[in-house]
Amino acid sequence: MQLTLDEATKWINSFVEKIEHNSATLNELDTAIGDGDHGTNMDRGAKAISEALSKKSPENLSELLKTTAFAMIQKVGGASGPLYGTALLDMSKAAKENDDLAALVQVGADGIKRRGQSDVKMKTMIDVWQPVADDLQAGSLSTDQVTAALNSTKDMVATKGRASYLEEKSAGHLDPGSQSSAYLFESLVEVIGG
Ligand code: ADP
Ligand code: MG
Ligand code: MG
Repeated sequence: MQLTLDEATKWINSFVEKIEHNSATLNELDTAIGDGDHGTNMDRGAKAISEALSKKSPENLSELLKTTAFAMIQKVGGASGPLYGTALLDMSKAAKENDDLAALVQVGADGIKRRGQSDVKMKTMIDVWQPVADDLQAGSLSTDQVTAALNSTKDMVATKGRASYLEEKSAGHLDPGSQSSAYLFESLVEVIGG
C-alpha cells in the first residue's frame, strides 16, 4: 500500500504522543540493561518533532520524514538518535521515488543495520523493524505481530549496544529500543488498520 502525507502525519503525531506518555517505561527498561536514559532521550526527540512540525507543515511525505529525522538526530543523542535518524532520513530519500509502505520500512531497517552494524537476533530495535518490514511485505501488519516481535527480544542475549556489556545477564529483559520501535509501529497500525 502507498503511504500518504496525511497518514504519515497521523502516524508520527501518534508516535510522539506514545513516547511522551511512556518515557518512564522506556527509562525503566533501559535501567535494567543499559544506562536508564532511553525514555528521556526519545522524549527530547518527540518534543523536537512536534515543535518542528508545528513551525512548518511538510508539503510531502519525503519532507515530513526528513523533518522528523533531523529532530531525532539533533535531539535524541545516545545510540538511538543516529539510528532512528538514519532510518528516517533514508526513508525520506526513498520516498522521493517510491511511497510504498513496505519498501519504505525495509529501507529504514536497512539504514539501521548499516549505521549500527547490526542485524536481527542481536537484541536491538532491528528485531522489531525487520519483522515489521517482513509482515508489511507479506501484506498485513497487526498490533499482535508488533507485540510478538517486541517480546522476541526478551530472551535474546544482546550482542550490540550497551546491553551487550551484560552478556548472558542481558537475557530476560525486553530491549528498550525495541519497545520504542513497537510504539512507532503500533501507531502505524492505528493509522493504516491491521
Ligand atoms: P544509549 O545506549 O547510548 O544510552 P539509548 O538508550 O537511547 O542509547 O538507546 C538504546 C537502544 O538503541 C537499544 O535498546 C537498542 O535497541 C538500540 N541500539 C543500540 N545499539 C544498536 C546497534 N548497533 N544497532 C541497532 N540498534 C542499536
Ligand atoms: Mg540508554
Ligand atoms: Mg545513554
